[in-house]
Amino acid sequence: MNVIFKDLNLSEIFSKVVSNRAVQNVSKFINNNKILVKVVCVCLVCATMVGISVTAAGITFGYDVECDGKIIATVRDASVLEKAKNLACRSVEKESIQKAIVKPKLAVTLAVADKLDNAESVANAIIENSEKIVHGSALKVNGEIVACVMSGDLESALEARKNAYNKEGLESSSCFVDSIEIESGYYLKDDLVEAEAVNDIINTLQVKTVSTVVTDSSVDYKTTKVKTDTQYLGYYKVTTAGKKGINRKTEQVEFINGVETARTLISDVVVSAPVNEVITVGTAKAVISASEKANVTSDGFICPISKGKYVITSYYGGGRNHKGIDLAANKGVAIFAVSAGTVTYAGFDSDYGYNIIIDHGNGIKTRYAHASAMCVSKGQSVSQGDMIAAVGSTGRSTGNHLHFEIIINGKRVNPAPYLGF
Ligand SMILES: [Zn+2]
Repeated sequence: MNVIFKDLNLSEIFSKVVSNRAVQNVSKFINNNKILVKVVCVCLVCATMVGISVTAAGITFGYDVECDGKIIATVRDASVLEKAKNLACRSVEKESIQKAIVKPKLAVTLAVADKLDNAESVANAIIENSEKIVHGSALKVNGEIVACVMSGDLESALEARKNAYNKEGLESSSCFVDSIEIESGYYLKDDLVEAEAVNDIINTLQVKTVSTVVTDSSVDYKTTKVKTDTQYLGYYKVTTAGKKGINRKTEQVEFINGVETARTLISDVVVSAPVNEVITVGTAKAVISASEKANVTSDGFICPISKGKYVITSYYGGGRNHKGIDLAANKGVAIFAVSAGTVTYAGFDSDYGYNIIIDHGNGIKTRYAHASAMCVSKGQSVSQGDMIAAVGSTGRSTGNHLHFEIIINGKRVNPAPYLGF
């Protein structure tokens, strides 16, 4: 790429005196110094004859510089033109610039000494008068010119490229990975490319985007159970509602052409603390009434739920081969041991939910399922009528009820006759 001459002062170029102006200056001088002129004219004639330059009252021999039939400057001698050509060729491949500039011709002339053009202004005039040299803009990548254009908005094309990877809705800043500069100056017309070609180059430039990413996530609350003996077992009430907190993570994320390359944590703070849930649970055991306790069937059992607090919703057998009897009751209603025995199981099961098995001896066991709470544990001895659990709907259950089974020698039998139903 040939950079011919950078940042020329055009006004300076146009203010330079070309031949016509030199003549005007001489005429003006003559008009203002009529007596002197005669002397000067004599001197000039003499000087011409001996072939040497003369200076008299500021007038001197000089050379008009002519390009393509147009006088573009007036210089003292050929060396100024040579120097000007060298200046015009500065930073340029000599061959190219020699082809680009019109070969100036020199013609002897008269000029006012202090109005002669210096090499720099002649260099500007040479460039201005070459059709092969134009003013344009060069795109420099890491100090190297990669393309020149005559017109076209390099800045807005670069800006558009730079912002193409900004993340929507995020605070972002983008910059080019390489050092990018736009340099305006004079370039060989042949070296210029179309704006579209420069855009193709711009679109290959790597863009680094730094975005601030804020991510909110919820913080789970904890649940605390507070026991109270002022409520029966099975009492369960949320006394303080739990509320999730908010955790805010702020990260600085770097992208190259939109692809993440680095992530730095800026802050990770809880902006809203969670509110822990408090559940109050009853621990008091309900006591069976004396009359219910006395109401023992011929098989030696009492009803596991107090009279009036349950409704039979499903008997043993039927279409779904039900292996027990369902007593629907409100959640928390006390479940009593139907007979004395030892607790052989007290735990959770996906079908039975919280359930208890009591071994009554002689191959007879009873099961109490779907409880909301239990107040006995494995190995514990219970008496007939002791509260062992509270009604609930845990496990495979669609509503609060007690699923009650009687197991004789490992076989679940119809409990109804045993309970006197
Ligand atoms: Zn059932």
